[in-house]
Amino acid sequence: SDRMALGPLVGAIDQGTSSTRFLVFNAKTAELLSHHQVEIRQKFPKEGWVEQDPKEILQSVYECVERTCEKMNQLNIDVTNIKAVGVSNQRETTVVWDKTTGEPLYNAIVWLDLRTQSTVERLLKRIPGKNKSFLKHKTGLPLSTYFSAVKLRWLLDNVKEIRQAVYDGRAMFGTIDSWLIWSLTGGKNEGVHCTDVTNASRTMLFNIHSLEWDSELCEFFDIPMEILPKVRSSSEIYGLMECGSLTGVPISGCLGDQSAALVGQMCFRDGQAKNTYGTGCFLLCNTGQKSIFSEHGLLTTVAYKLGRDNPVCYALEGSVAIAGAVVRWLRDNLGIIQSSDEVEKLAAEVGSSYGCYFVPAFSGLYAPYWEPSARGIICGLTQFTNKKHIAFAALEAVCFQTREILDAMNKDCGIPLTQLQVDGGMTNNKILMQLQADILCIPVVKPSMPETTALGAAMAAGSAEGVGIWSLSPGDLTAVTCERFEPQINPEESEYRYARWKKAVMKSIGWET
Ligand code: ADP
Repeated sequence: SDRMALGPLVGAIDQGTSSTRFLVFNAKTAELLSHHQVEIRQKFPKEGWVEQDPKEILQSVYECVERTCEKMNQLNIDVTNIKAVGVSNQRETTVVWDKTTGEPLYNAIVWLDLRTQSTVERLLKRIPGKNKSFLKHKTGLPLSTYFSAVKLRWLLDNVKEIRQAVYDGRAMFGTIDSWLIWSLTGGKNEGVHCTDVTNASRTMLFNIHSLEWDSELCEFFDIPMEILPKVRSSSEIYGLMECGSLTGVPISGCLGDQSAALVGQMCFRDGQAKNTYGTGCFLLCNTGQKSIFSEHGLLTTVAYKLGRDNPVCYALEGSVAIAGAVVRWLRDNLGIIQSSDEVEKLAAEVGSSYGCYFVPAFSGLYAPYWEPSARGIICGLTQFTNKKHIAFAALEAVCFQTREILDAMNKDCGIPLTQLQVDGGMTNNKILMQLQADILCIPVVKPSMPETTALGAAMAAGSAEGVGIWSLSPGDLTAVTCERFEPQINPEESEYRYARWKKAVMKSIGWET
């Protein structure tokens, strides 16, 4: 046949909170050739609870792979040119499954879930002075509902089947990367039970300095260590796919989504940072081979370790729980838009919130506050306020939250960022990007290829030892075209609005005690 000769290709599974994607890149040019995306259902069985079905997640990966391969066939691109696959995933989300049946023993508890608030309080009581940062020297993280250890603790305390499976030696724990890699490499027959250092660093069971599961941490949370996956680097061959058209292809890259975006944005140097606007919003700044401890509410996390023999790099991270999720809430709960992108038109019709402020603290507040007691508020309403102002205020909330993180980052790093590199689903929204530049008073820069998370996973997979087909160096890609948004309002106005925002935040804290 006269199939196009493109050279080696790399696939990337991008399993996010709101959707799953499979994307195929050319390993010589980083060009995106084909992709498919499927939205993931989220279940809210009780107030504050957020679950997903691990089988549905796995099914969505199969569907995305097969549909992408079909599209490639239609484009006359040979799918056998896909020589490696990388995985990038929503982090912290916790799954326990039975290794003899391959069946999950409970729904996945999603990172946003708040059910562990009482678990956290119970654990805090055992800590001198109830100090949330008690385990930060080892984990880089404060004790919070956010990380996997407390979710796993909840599952062991509340799900009889899981306790029994642990007792019988049938239970496996993993974050979404582990669940997918195990299932995609043969599952109950010969699945590989592993995770990478970036995902491990979000469990609170992992020592980010020794890069090992930590027996003291496991003891503190009372987690049996035999159910934990083996920890590997972010770029090496973990196993071979047993998945339709891609059977036999190595899975050779694995990065938590925010690490993947940092890699995909080519932030390899000390001091380089990116902000990703998805369900939540995550600003990561590469701090190189040294781990910096934040004095201002940020996390210390593993950025990546690209190969068994390569050094580990760390990042400071500012995590915002609710960003795109507030737009989804306007769609699904208020019904004032039919699709996420309609929020842009609605907000544009007013161009200002007219004094309305929306703090979307649906899951408490993450960085820099770490306040599980916060709940969402909309304030400053008048007779004049309508849905357009609320839509505008929702977008503005994402920008103010980023401003709080950036301020903390600048204080911790000492050198202020002079521009912000951005990516993620919400960056399609031009109003949001302009507002962000206005509120930060620095330019916001968006790469023309927005799928940086998938690109990062593909780079890790394509450059792994024994694969070695990724032939681009970061320098080749830094010249890619970008869209720039320059600040357009004066800093005084920006400061005034930001001060009002902070006042609104104070009203949201302590609502749920
Ligand atoms: P995730 O990786 O967390 O699944 P994505 O990067 O895929 O997230 O972004 C999806 C999120 O972005 C959704 O919450 C959606 O509501 C929001 N979103 C998508 N497009 C727009 C838009 N044009 N304006 C505002 N929000 C958007």
